[in-house]
Amino acid sequence: MNNLSKNYINGEWVSWSGPTLDVHEAGTGDVIAKVPASGRDEMEQAIAAADAAFADWSESSLDQRIKVLEQLHAGLKERAGEIAETVCREVGMPIKLATGIQAGLPATITKTYLKMLPDFPFSEQCGNSEVQYAPVGVVGCITPWNYPLHQVILKIVPAIAAGCTVVLKPAEIAPQSAYILAEILDGTDLPKGVFNLVSGEGQTVGDTLIKHPAVRMVSFTGSTRTGGLIAHAAADDFKRIALEMGGKSASVILPDANLAAAVKGTVNNCLLNSGQTCTALTRMLVPADLHDEACELAAAAVARMTPGNPLEETTRLGPLASAQQRDKVIDYIKLGIEEGHTLVAGGPEAPEGCDKGYFVKATVFGNVKPGSRLEQEEIFGPVLCVIPYQDEADAIRIANGTQYGLSGAVWSADADRAKKVAGKLRTGQVFVNGGDFNPLAPFGGFGHSGIGREFGKWGLEEFLEVRSLQL
Ligand code: ADP
Repeated sequence: MNNLSKNYINGEWVSWSGPTLDVHEAGTGDVIAKVPASGRDEMEQAIAAADAAFADWSESSLDQRIKVLEQLHAGLKERAGEIAETVCREVGMPIKLATGIQAGLPATITKTYLKMLPDFPFSEQCGNSEVQYAPVGVVGCITPWNYPLHQVILKIVPAIAAGCTVVLKPAEIAPQSAYILAEILDGTDLPKGVFNLVSGEGQTVGDTLIKHPAVRMVSFTGSTRTGGLIAHAAADDFKRIALEMGGKSASVILPDANLAAAVKGTVNNCLLNSGQTCTALTRMLVPADLHDEACELAAAAVARMTPGNPLEETTRLGPLASAQQRDKVIDYIKLGIEEGHTLVAGGPEAPEGCDKGYFVKATVFGNVKPGSRLEQEEIFGPVLCVIPYQDEADAIRIANGTQYGLSGAVWSADADRAKKVAGKLRTGQVFVNGGDFNPLAPFGGFGHSGIGREFGKWGLEEFLEVRSLQL
């Protein structure tokens, strides 16, 4: 990539000679790239470009939008290997998983919108009214580092499909795949100014983006703390917001479930991307009399997840994305011990043979007390809490007992019972008996986990205003 030292503004790669941000390789700690720590001026130029491009792009034909998304899809496929390796190095996700998820999912999502667009009802009749769906305007997209390209695609593809123009500020820790995306879009027929990329820190360029009056919507994925700042800033100017934030999702294993399958499914989900996943099932709720057996099964599952070099095909657990994240997770593991929960597997020491890079042992705590900090707070690392419950009502109460509500799971031999319990969980999605991920189903949170939905038609509707013509 030749453009990492630049920003992409108004269809041009614009050089930057100011301060830079280091990008580290998660498995070694080495600096592997430098990107601009841009200033507010660069962000303002990008917003002005997006604002100027809006009049034409909001009137573009569906054919024009479809053509660009087809070109984007082809580019994502063509550069999939490079995307997978880039994200694997930055974030630490093992290469095999990164190939399927970090590189594969962005292409899949783009395809879902390509398929949806020809038949999407941009207007409909309601009695004597024609209801029209109009693009919301310039959209500021602020994204995190854990699934760096996926989260960008989930925003910019439906935004562009809706007729919006976009300014993207990618995460400082994992910005390189956003540059690959900008290079791909630069090679498409997308008119200049429709997509802009400004690299930099949240407190500077991110702050300008969320407060600028020309930006009519902010679509954000990241921490609940930053989401709160964005909601405050948006309130001053009545901007639209879509926020996807933290989680502390519960996997509720009912007494009649296949315990081995449920524990395995929960552990695999919890440890995906070394736990750096907002939907991770980090709380495993088990009937009190099955608690010890569940802990043994979880410890055995975790033992198979030895940390290793994420670039190796056989590695199943990679490092965390940054030194800061590693230290935060280790502090939580120490907190878990201080709070008196039972350490079943793992611990705060560095895993053997991993003296470089940001590795943490996959860790399981048993007898975790509802209401404790370990049980309530998002850790964003490979740490599973096993929580015993007394009966179904107790399980539902504990599952709903955090400020979050992003994901969840229910396991039972009785599919109807599982569905009934799933319907009582205050959360945006629930996996019933390990149901498959669906890229067309709405995704988002209750409570402090978010506002708005991504994926599928719900993801597109976020970027549309409603206008009704009385005829
Ligand atoms: P994480 O803890 O996952 O890094 P953050 O919420 O800090 O989550 O970061 C997610 C994204 O939000 C990043 O792109 C970051 O630069 C951006 N960000 C952080 N602080 C601000 C802010 N004050 N204003 C706008 N964007 C911000």
